[in-house]
Amino acid sequence: MLIEGLRIANERNEVLKTKILNDINNGDKRPNATIILVGNNPASEVYVNSKIKASSKVGIESNLIRLDSNITDIELENTINALNRDNNVDGILLQLPLPKHLNEKKFINLIDVKKDIDGFTLINQGNLFQGEPCVNAATPQGIINLLEAYNIDVKGLNAVVIGRSQIVGLPIAKMLLDRHATVTVCHSRTKDLSLFTKSADLIIVAVGIPKLLKEDMVKEGVIVIDVGINRVDGKLIGDVDFETVSLKAKFITPVPKGVGPMTINALLENTYKVSKNK
Ligand code: NAD
Repeated sequence: MLIEGLRIANERNEVLKTKILNDINNGDKRPNATIILVGNNPASEVYVNSKIKASSKVGIESNLIRLDSNITDIELENTINALNRDNNVDGILLQLPLPKHLNEKKFINLIDVKKDIDGFTLINQGNLFQGEPCVNAATPQGIINLLEAYNIDVKGLNAVVIGRSQIVGLPIAKMLLDRHATVTVCHSRTKDLSLFTKSADLIIVAVGIPKLLKEDMVKEGVIVIDVGINRVDGKLIGDVDFETVSLKAKFITPVPKGVGPMTINALLENTYKVSKNK
């Protein structure tokens, strides 16, 4: 069965839009987020544009601060600090990657945790790993929302997460553990990926290698969540060989229209959440 991320994301966005409208009718201020974009990485431009467009559709105001790629540490620090101090700013998103001369972790952690809509700060990630309430990173939260929308209970499932990044692999592994899955994390140094994927009930692939997961690596009835976004010959494809793996899978996400829209939706929901948690 195809897991229709786009449809679920649209439904959740509609619910969010109604909530925001009701809040505004009750005298609340419109939630807002400020995105900081340093330089002009083409992929980042695309992501930022889609975030701005999606925000306006649900009634979230977004502001974009564009900074030159050779901005200094101090200038970026001042920009973030000013947004932290500004009571009219609900959420702050620092678009990654930053140019090489800027230390990403340092700047992410300058963001006031109360305004961290990406869930990337030490405090939010630490809270996730300590089992405390937090703002979760949008992609893993989007995946959880998608599994829930299809009533997929991960309790007791053998889950294999391929990829161990701070923004997808690690947090989704923890979130699956919290929901009582048995989780194995595979990565670039895993010797025999198939050994793990063949016995998996649920596979989350977040690597960035087109068609890494092939039909002979999965068992019949597997659930597959493809996070990968790869541009090949002008087309977007995932990390899963969809045509063949889908023949064996009980549930599978497409690329595009799978995890991508769910990520954006989770980011909008995070913005709403921080705007209310003040
Ligand atoms: P990353 O580059 O930070 O991490 C990739 C991970 O893949 C690493 O942990 C690495 O160990 C692992 N890896 C590399 N080669 C491997 C191999 N041969 N076998 C097994 N593991 C291997 O990437 P990321 O930021 O986690 O993103 C992963 C992919 O997901 C990218 O294609 C990215 O564009 C996409 N992405 C999509 C969304 C979305 O909303 N759909 C969001 C974030 C990232």
